[in-house]
Amino acid sequence: MKRILVTGGAGFLGSHLCDRLIKDGCDVLCVDNFFTGSKTNIAHLIGNPYFELMRHDVTFPLYVEVDQIYNLACPASPVHYQFDPVQTTKTSVHGAINMLGLAKRIKARIFQASTSEVYGDPVMHPQPESYWGNVNSIGPRSCYDEGKRCAETLFFDYYRQHNLDIKVARIFNTYGPRMHPNDGRVVSNFIVQALKGNDITIYGDGSQTRSFCYVDDLIEGFIRIMKTEAGFTGPINLGNPSEFSMLELAETILRLAKSNSKLVYQPLPQDDPRQRQPDIALATSSLGWTPHVNLEDGLKETIDYFRQIL
Ligand code: NAD
Ligand code: UDP
Repeated sequence: MKRILVTGGAGFLGSHLCDRLIKDGCDVLCVDNFFTGSKTNIAHLIGNPYFELMRHDVTFPLYVEVDQIYNLACPASPVHYQFDPVQTTKTSVHGAINMLGLAKRIKARIFQASTSEVYGDPVMHPQPESYWGNVNSIGPRSCYDEGKRCAETLFFDYYRQHNLDIKVARIFNTYGPRMHPNDGRVVSNFIVQALKGNDITIYGDGSQTRSFCYVDDLIEGFIRIMKTEAGFTGPINLGNPSEFSMLELAETILRLAKSNSKLVYQPLPQDDPRQRQPDIALATSSLGWTPHVNLEDGLKETIDYFRQIL
């Protein structure tokens, strides 16, 4: 039985990953400081003898014995990561150093949840892994973008310098049940607004695009990259290439939620990327991975979830 550490395991993606690992017969240690995650996300796993929960902040060293590490700890939504930007950078950078140091000591394979934000506001479209990105180093999104870029640098330096077994995935916008209702991300915002009959807040003119991946597809990608042979490091894009404007997303959510909410237009946040779409050729050829859940089906599941919790 593999012992697996999931940092950020009480968060949106982390809790789905814990579910999947438990289902696959692993012994899971979930580490979280509950900054954006919650016990509710993993409450159903508490009491399972193969699931253990530890309150810990990854900016401090951690001494445990496991076979593999998934490093997901980091707030992911702009509202949350901009709340305490210094802590966001510390979580990405000190967190990576601590988890890489742990992996080196115990010789564990380690996965990093990197992000499409490393491409910034991309001038190349769609974005392949070879694209170096267009990132502002001093803006409000920089604590997250540059923190994640520095974490990637650390992962690859530990790989080159210490021969560490690393796997780096660049995750594109992912949605699904257990997203935080107040995290300010577009899918959760629009669904909550639609269900409550509040105005739908379109930032800018709504023509900016994103490509949305359903959580189950993404987690399958994590598991597959973790099973690749040593030396397969990534970075590898994981996301759904179907691209939608924010206006299209709003209209789809209104229709599926049978909501009469009105669209209102608000200023576009600074440095908001104009467009984003993953090039997933590498994931398809090397992992045999493609996302299967289309936006409507995924949104229906997510709307059902929000209906239950609101
Ligand atoms: P989330 O905010 O739901 O989860 C992050 C988890 O990390 C939370 O449980 C939080 O409490 C925990 N955490 C934060 N700081 C910590 C610290 N210092 N020590 C310990 N735990 C800490 O976000 P998510 O959407 O589940 O994202 C998980 C990971 O995936 C993040 O690293 C994020 O950057 C990455 N990612 C997510 C997306 C997406 O669309 N959801 C896209 C790109 C990258
Ligand atoms: N957005 C929006 N209304 C909202 C929340 C977000 O129009 O209520 C837009 C936001 O400006 C961005 C896109 O939706 O262009 C995706 O935003 P999100 O915060 O979900 O993710 P990210 O910008 O990090 O991709």
